[in-house]
Amino acid sequence: MKVVKNKYKCVICKQENEYLDYMSFYSRGHADFDGKPVNSMAGIGAAIMECPNCHYANYKIDEAIENRFYKNPDLWNLSDFQNIIKNYPDPLRKILLVALQYEHNLDHIRAYKTYILASWVADEKEASEFRRKALSIFINKVLPGRNDDYLQIADMLRQEKEFDIAKCFTTAVQELTDRDHEKQLEAINAEENFIINQDSTRHNLGEIFKKE
Ligand SMILES: [Zn+2]
Repeated sequence: MKVVKNKYKCVICKQENEYLDYMSFYSRGHADFDGKPVNSMAGIGAAIMECPNCHYANYKIDEAIENRFYKNPDLWNLSDFQNIIKNYPDPLRKILLVALQYEHNLDHIRAYKTYILASWVADEKEASEFRRKALSIFINKVLPGRNDDYLQIADMLRQEKEFDIAKCFTTAVQELTDRDHEKQLEAINAEENFIINQDSTRHNLGEIFKKE
């Protein structure tokens, strides 16, 4: 992991602090079927900066995701942000703060992907809440044209025991995948077997790609 220290001024409270800038991440080994990187919990959300003074959070702390904060930084005190600040520990807190801003901004793709990050760092009970949130945004707002993500979505639906809908997604992604993408097809078949067996536990892609 390449990291450099830089000073940035918080866009909300204008306090200047030193932050770590993550230039790149390295993750060894296979990810889980839902995309969660293996053994790299510390890396998830690490690139999000959070102001120690007002708890504003963003990948770029000196920029606002929502334009309205430029005109009126007091809006950061709104209860939905403050509830997250009060109720969640880091790194879940800063991930949720960013997710909510994307949601307000109607940036559905970034919002659902950020809730998936939240499901990876949350404990199992909360993970389900954030997976469902991500799934709801994906299915209601994003669905058309995001075929690449269907396997990840199928896996999250399976973890939520929504086996019938999960099967629709694996069938769709099977039809959309080129026959010569063997690894992808292998992963889809494995996912389909988990679904048929009504297995809602987390699985790692290493289980099917052991030989490498
Ligand atoms: Zn601040």
